Amino acid sequence: MILHDGARIAIIGGGPAGSFFSIFASKLARDMGKALDFTIYERKSFVSHGASGCNMCAGVVSESLVQNLALEGINLPATVVRWGIESYFFHIEGGSVEIKSSRLRQRGIATVFRGGGPAGSLAKGIQSFDDFLLQKAVEHGAHVKRSLIDGICMEGEKPRLYSGKNMLQECDLLVGAFGIKASTGKMYEDLGSGYKVPPTIKTAQSEIELGSDWVVHRFGHAIHIFLLRIPGIKFVSVIPKGDYITVSVLGKDPKLDHIKAFLGHHSMKKFLPSGFQVPEKFCHCFPKISVGAARKPFANRTVFVGDASSSRLYKDGIGSAYITAKAAAHTALLEGIGEKDFQEHYLPTCKSLNRDNLFGQFLFAANHLMSIVSPISRSYFNIVQREQKNLQKNTPYSDILWDMFTGSRFYKDIFLRALHPSFVVYLFSAMVIYPVKKVFFSFKNR
Ligand SMILES: Cc1cc2nc3c(=O)[nH]c(=O)nc-3n(C[C@H](O)[C@H](O)[C@H](O)COP(=O)(O)OP(=O)(O)OC[C@H]3O[C@@H](n4cnc5c(N)ncnc54)[C@H](O)[C@@H]3O)c2cc1C
Repeated sequence: MILHDGARIAIIGGGPAGSFFSIFASKLARDMGKALDFTIYERKSFVSHGASGCNMCAGVVSESLVQNLALEGINLPATVVRWGIESYFFHIEGGSVEIKSSRLRQRGIATVFRGGGPAGSLAKGIQSFDDFLLQKAVEHGAHVKRSLIDGICMEGEKPRLYSGKNMLQECDLLVGAFGIKASTGKMYEDLGSGYKVPPTIKTAQSEIELGSDWVVHRFGHAIHIFLLRIPGIKFVSVIPKGDYITVSVLGKDPKLDHIKAFLGHHSMKKFLPSGFQVPEKFCHCFPKISVGAARKPFANRTVFVGDASSSRLYKDGIGSAYITAKAAAHTALLEGIGEKDFQEHYLPTCKSLNRDNLFGQFLFAANHLMSIVSPISRSYFNIVQREQKNLQKNTPYSDILWDMFTGSRFYKDIFLRALHPSFVVYLFSAMVIYPVKKVFFSFKNR
């Protein structure tokens, strides 16, 4: 099974995965001298404000993705980039540490809005990241149709798509780039090909307007990670975006009260204007995040990409959409569109992401444990603080935190560095030496 001249490719979902697939596949088709027809079905308009026009995410574009996009000739314009990120701050109950990476100077991390802007925002000149990518797909020849696909069936050997009671098209290749929208995934599960949507958990997110002067002054060009002991919360990321900060809460079934509890916590309060009151109404949502892999993300004439297939645990979901979409496009164009082609040439990419997430699970569990056991977190922070004073030297302890939270390295690589005997010995000796030194100097100074 291969894509012949004139073949029709239908993509469900115009988020990053759908746009990336369309861009990469159409580039390859052009190079191969094939004329293919791409149609992206997307129910949202990414120019609308609030949840209806947004793909709900913290909006951090990782350093590796910024670089990969530049290599593809996709440079994020100033209307899309809300803020450039130069460092990460980690806040624990007992203090804070700023981490910079020497690597960042060449690459950069960007923060973006996934929709037209927060609900109720009057800001002009914001272009959503998803709208920008979708426009790129159109420039490469894709057609975009604003429809909700609510029926898929296999009549004969080709998939057919429906919206309402209307048959929209029959296609030679169906690309499932619908993220983790359960109803769309379920539609395909019911066809019995063996596909199963990935497991998810709920998160909580909000956009808080503070004005760009305040955001620059208090948050700088840094992402702030709060590892606090607030019941039900694993960690909170605060991402500056011009006039707004995005507050992203990861925990066990987080609710609006968790966002409010965080904003009222003494560690966060000092970053807010004095007398700050949580507004009556503010843009917030409870999107699901993928925490596992889809089962069998392919069949004859069908392939799933992005969150609908495999994505990196908690980090760089947009980067995973890039990786899976590229691998699927290469397979479809260069190898074929049969189940066997995807199994041999696309599945290994998904498997490597899935395997890596096992290491990620361990790292995030260890990080959570460390952040709630103060002697360990304080010792770790002391080591990192000392490293950060001299960035000319190697900074292995800072790099572990940096790489975990920026999503710029594979979890396996970070895991192996974190378990290196010298790392473990140094950390535990720090746990013993620092308190002893502290007691010694306090006696000496009396
Ligand atoms: C709280 C939170 C924070 C996150 N932070 C980050 C971050 O900072 N950086 C990062 O890289 N990743 C982050 N992610 C992950 C990231 O959002 C996803 O990995 C990424 O959006 C996946 O892209 P996608 O194209 O596969 O899916 P999506 O972005 O979900 O796009 C799917 C598209 O399909 C459309 N669709 C679905 N069903 C249908 C249908 N039946 N008909 C028509 N259209 C349909 C939807 O409208 C949507 O536009 C975060 C996720 C969450 C929940």
